[in-house]
Amino acid sequence: MSTRRKLHMRNIIKKALKASRNRKNSSYALVHHARSRMQIIVVLCISVCMLFIVCKTAVAEAIDQQNQQQKRVAVIIDDLGNNMKGTKEILNLPVKITVAVMPFLPTTKQDAMEAHNRGHDVIVHLPMEPKQGKPEWLGPGAIKANMTDEEVRAKVTAAIKDVPYAIGMNNHMGSKVTSDKRIMSIVLDVCKEHGLFFVDSRTNYWSVVPELAAKKGMPPVRNDVFLDDVHTLAHVNRQLSKVVEWLAEHNTCVTIGHVGVSGMYTSSGLHSSVPKLKEHAQFVGISDLVRDV
Ligand SMILES: [Zn+2]
Repeated sequence: MSTRRKLHMRNIIKKALKASRNRKNSSYALVHHARSRMQIIVVLCISVCMLFIVCKTAVAEAIDQQNQQQKRVAVIIDDLGNNMKGTKEILNLPVKITVAVMPFLPTTKQDAMEAHNRGHDVIVHLPMEPKQGKPEWLGPGAIKANMTDEEVRAKVTAAIKDVPYAIGMNNHMGSKVTSDKRIMSIVLDVCKEHGLFFVDSRTNYWSVVPELAAKKGMPPVRNDVFLDDVHTLAHVNRQLSKVVEWLAEHNTCVTIGHVGVSGMYTSSGLHSSVPKLKEHAQFVGISDLVRDV
């Protein structure tokens, strides 16, 4: 074979080898490229999944928080105005409550003013004749079943004027009077004339207040849980758990407690339950609930 032909052959082999190398490189690049794309798709899928989980959790948490904020609890404490046990402790509660102050008593004005200054709501706690019970439990200015229309009107008006900052009213005792349509109609009329609402304490199963209030276009606010119908701390704590149970089923809860015999138990139970209750609902004054009704 001539030298020229040898050179020609060598060039052909070189070209063939180069072409083969190039082919290998390009198929390697193709495989590598495909693998990279697969990896990117997997990483993207994982990222999307994680983003979805994070968003879902955040949305669930936000809804939870919104629900808790929407739920509201209004604590009403009755029987202030006579420097009864637990008054100072109740007024010191670090959350908004409502105090029901009895008229014409030694600390009526002092308690109402202090409550108002601390940001609590004040309502008149109007004594009303019960079916049973001693007359001396009623206190001054009580509404009795044998009073004339004029007498009832005058008593209710005087009571409202005696309690500073009062924005509403509820009844002290009153199992007899709250079932009397004639009297309760006058009581509600006087309240309405003064821009006050009436909270039915539900001391009487036969109370005519809800029906009359609805007819007169007044907000139907009533007590849901009694905190201290038995005078022990254990009972108050049990009732506070019932408030939490009630809030699981309802958006609002009105709960009534007292100063006096159970005052120290009620105030102590409330003080220690505030953080737990705050997890379930917002503490509001009764006026905040009434505004929405
Ligand atoms: Zn009372």
